[in-house]
Amino acid sequence: MDKQSANNFFFPKDGSAGIISGPCSAETREQVIETATQLAALKKVHLFRAGIWKPRTRPGMFEGVGSIGLEWLLDAKKITGLPTTVEVATAKQVEEALKYNVDVLWIGARTTVNPFSIQELSDALVGVDVPVLIKNPINPDIELWQGAVERIAKAGIQKIGLVHRGFSSYGNTVYRNAPMWHLAIEMKRRFPELIFICDPSHMGGKRDLLQELAQKSIDLGYDGLMIESHVNPSEAWSDAAQQITPTNLDILLNNIIWRRTTLDVDEQNELQKLRQQIDQLDDELLQVLSNRMKITDLIGEYKKENNITILQAQRWNDILQRAFEKNESLGLSDEFIKKYFEAVHLESINHQNKIMNS
Ligand code: PEP
Ligand code: MN
Repeated sequence: MDKQSANNFFFPKDGSAGIISGPCSAETREQVIETATQLAALKKVHLFRAGIWKPRTRPGMFEGVGSIGLEWLLDAKKITGLPTTVEVATAKQVEEALKYNVDVLWIGARTTVNPFSIQELSDALVGVDVPVLIKNPINPDIELWQGAVERIAKAGIQKIGLVHRGFSSYGNTVYRNAPMWHLAIEMKRRFPELIFICDPSHMGGKRDLLQELAQKSIDLGYDGLMIESHVNPSEAWSDAAQQITPTNLDILLNNIIWRRTTLDVDEQNELQKLRQQIDQLDDELLQVLSNRMKITDLIGEYKKENNITILQAQRWNDILQRAFEKNESLGLSDEFIKKYFEAVHLESINHQNKIMNS
């Protein structure tokens, strides 16, 4: 499959990033219309978002205005021309949203996690032609994310996009939801044809973190951003700490250094030269590692004959210390050195284990 047209999500045809923005929750008719009007005036926002039904972690919090919000969204669209998107979690909500001509549906992180809910949504979407954005599940399990894509696709939905909003963890961390970029990168590898959007608002949970998270996702080649905005963010009924005014959204977008994912022929040739060197070095690295394991095997034979344990704690410590010292002039991070040697050491142990027990 070719890369889906970003245009399916009302994003620019020229391939520049698509911007989804609007409040975490629709609160009042005035707040919805005013936010949409200010966003439309920026001429940088392509899709207006607002939560109508809010999946809150605990009862008693603001759970959304419900279907009345759909009328406000429809009014906002009539006034500003901005297409709209809302979160849906049940078949009934899909039916309501479609009745009010919502342009794009999105599936929230607390729904992606539950195959029963995803199946219910899929069944409700059979025969419907509407683009669907699927947020990552709250827990770092991309099989669930993939499963959701597969179920929605099986229902016949062809316009599917992915939203990376980070993964929750226990206790206080810098991020409200840890980005775990590597999981999103793996998801991008599995579904290169799907539009990929970053939601730095729910990742960071704080206004201060938006700029750097948004930049990082653009550096990684994401197709768009979903950023929560509100005319009066600190008074928002949900997610007050992470929403920004449309004016601050404008500043944030102006500060981003936009990157291209496509290369012209000269650029391709230039990179090709450097990549050939990388490939050559990778081949050498693999050969060196293979040679190292052959020595490991000899050590394994010796330990076996003399009944010596495989793990020699002091030796392992020495290897690591030596590597840290050597690295002082090499410019690799200590974190990488540790990860790399742990992997090599584990491979050595596995090799010796095989020899000991053969
Ligand atoms: C939201 O977008 O307001 C929302 C509830 O997001 P998530 O599903 O990512 O928590
Ligand atoms: Mn929110």
